[in-house]
Amino acid sequence: MPLPFPAAQVGARFGKRNYPPNPYHKGIDYPLRAGTPVPAAAAGTVIGTGHTAGFNHWVEIDHGHSLTTRYHMLGTVQVARGQKVAEGQTIGTVGPKFGVSTGEHLHFELHDKTRRDPIYGTAIDPLANIGRLTPAAPASIPLTLIGDTMIRIQSPGRGIALIGAGYYRHLTTNEEVEQSGPLMEKHVNGNDRQFDLWVSMALAGRAAVTGERAAVDTTGVVEQVLAGIRATGVSVSVDVAAVAKAVNDDLIARIAG
Ligand SMILES: [Zn+2]
Repeated sequence: MPLPFPAAQVGARFGKRNYPPNPYHKGIDYPLRAGTPVPAAAAGTVIGTGHTAGFNHWVEIDHGHSLTTRYHMLGTVQVARGQKVAEGQTIGTVGPKFGVSTGEHLHFELHDKTRRDPIYGTAIDPLANIGRLTPAAPASIPLTLIGDTMIRIQSPGRGIALIGAGYYRHLTTNEEVEQSGPLMEKHVNGNDRQFDLWVSMALAGRAAVTGERAAVDTTGVVEQVLAGIRATGVSVSVDVAAVAKAVNDDLIARIAG
């Protein structure tokens, strides 16, 4: 649950309150001793820091999906604008009693930048909405580039994918496309029909491997894939023996497993 501190420690809650200087509380308060390290609620990018009358030092972190968190009443700030922070990373410390505040505390806000409430602006109740700050996504699985055994294919309607004998992976992020850079020289552009043909031929190799659990003519499968690509007029240079060996190794591993 990506709150900076447990909900049970919250003192003043979000919303209307009987406190004339500031009757509409745009965040939640954690009574904490000055000097307490303040963690980032979730991974993100620091989009602002500053010092404002009434807020003491403050930090704002962008978490994507139009959501930001703000940390007010800080005594020190340990991050800089533009810096990426991890969930739980210390961004500063709670400051001493400041201005009209009633005591040492952290004031924490959650903002949905698409909202425009006449009173609260973009601030939303952290306790009710903190679940929208999803935990950091698991790191994407690094691509394994097996030298000569893979080809990168692309078509206008299908995007970019890596194929090999018995292997298919659609590249969905810029990061994955960058990681596949070493395969640029084996990059093939085609239309959507050709893309589908290449994929089906690559996966036909996999079906033979996983379905029949029998020896397959791996060299033949590789040559089928290559023939399909060459039929489009594209010249590709691939070590057929190396690909066939990779498929055989895969077959052996699957049967053994
Ligand atoms: Zn507050």
